[in-house]
Amino acid sequence: MKVVVLGAGLIGVATAYYLWRDGHEVEVIDEEAHPASVTSYANACLISASRALPWPTPTAGTTAWRALTDSSAPMRITKPFDPALWRWGREFMSYANTSDYQRLTRAKLTFARFCQTELESTLQETGVDCGYQRNGLLYVCRSEATMVAAHARALLVGEHGNKTRVLSRDDVIALEPSLAASTVVGGTFAPSDAQGDSRAFTRALATWLAGRGVKFVWGEAVIARLTQRAQKYELHTSKGQINADAFVIALGPKTPQFGRMLGVHVPIYPVKGYSATVPIKDLTRAPKLGGICEDSLIAHCPLQSESGPVMRITTGAVFSGQDASFRASDFARHREHFEALFPGALDWSNPSVEHWACQRPMTPSSLPIIQQHRFDNLYWNRGQGHIGWTMSCGSGRVMADLVAGRSPSFDLSDMQKFPA
Ligand SMILES: Cc1cc2nc3c(=O)[nH]c(=O)nc-3n(C[C@H](O)[C@H](O)[C@H](O)COP(=O)(O)OP(=O)(O)OC[C@H]3O[C@@H](n4cnc5c(N)ncnc54)[C@H](O)[C@@H]3O)c2cc1C
Repeated sequence: MKVVVLGAGLIGVATAYYLWRDGHEVEVIDEEAHPASVTSYANACLISASRALPWPTPTAGTTAWRALTDSSAPMRITKPFDPALWRWGREFMSYANTSDYQRLTRAKLTFARFCQTELESTLQETGVDCGYQRNGLLYVCRSEATMVAAHARALLVGEHGNKTRVLSRDDVIALEPSLAASTVVGGTFAPSDAQGDSRAFTRALATWLAGRGVKFVWGEAVIARLTQRAQKYELHTSKGQINADAFVIALGPKTPQFGRMLGVHVPIYPVKGYSATVPIKDLTRAPKLGGICEDSLIAHCPLQSESGPVMRITTGAVFSGQDASFRASDFARHREHFEALFPGALDWSNPSVEHWACQRPMTPSSLPIIQQHRFDNLYWNRGQGHIGWTMSCGSGRVMADLVAGRSPSFDLSDMQKFPA
């Protein structure tokens, strides 16, 4: 069977791998010139399966109010009258109750673990090198309030099989001595969480697949057209119509625009995050492990670049419609909070410091859509949101199951669905 995958981010390329493994003729089309050029370009690179928790919590109303009124909050709503946000928000709030939170927590944590295992199998089967290390991730607290919340979270994820150790300040410093100069009060450590360069993974896997017969088409935007009174559809690029037995849509945050061309409402909202990549100037002061500061919600991950060791630092969840722009001032928090933890580790004035912003494709339930929908041969692999690196390979595997007509390797009943 010929299957065309639209989109060459983490999700599209991972899906292409599983389709190739099933023996299909696979083609991947992307409007950019390289794989992983949009959301998958510079994320935090954490495989934080132990923190795969749903965003709609029973206290989501308070978080939303703070997002509207507090410009220093990690989550912000800057386009409150966006009709798309209202529609998305209504469904989001419908899950903000205890029973849905428990159901979504169980589904998301189990799926993330399944996905991590798939990622590790893919790395082993292909030999792709992205600096993957399963050495655990460290979640640090700088206040008693976040320590209490971290303790509760450790108990919650523990009930679902994710071992997390609660640490005193001394324990934290024993694990990460470079935190000794900080005001950290404690934290948690998830030994099975991991880290790795997601852009390197996507690009190396695409190269690996290209060497095995998968065709990649770059620089071509795909448009969709309904024909014969909307009973059929056609996909086109500037080179003409694309023909295949099946199509997989993996267009990241742009999937809703694509859906509109087919008369499909895709329940995804783009949520902007900011990422800085900064050269490390003093390795003894820099963290060895990736992690998150529970107070600022700033994530960090040491990576190896072509020019030497760098630190990826990300933060922010901004509901700003299609606006993916960024200004230098958007990165002041990155520096302030990172320096409070690891003073003097990074070379902030180096000209190679890279600033970036991109949008997480978030569904209201914060579980992905992995579903055939609208037309028999049209499959959607979307909405992995804030943990698309973690979920890439598991989502690809389950998508390939659906395309092959097999029963999915993971129970999809709690995944996000298209509206009926
Ligand atoms: C700040 C930040 C930090 C994050 N940190 C982590 C993390 O630590 N761990 C984790 O697991 N996840 C993390 N994520 C989430 C993760 O990065 C995303 O979930 C993931 O990159 C989404 O991949 P994707 O393939 O769906 O989208 P994308 O990477 O955006 O890929 C979609 C592709 O579709 C192409 N495209 C779109 N429209 C068209 C069209 N019409 N025609 C042709 N091509 C088109 C685009 O060019 C793009 O290449 C983070 C996200 C952000 C924003």
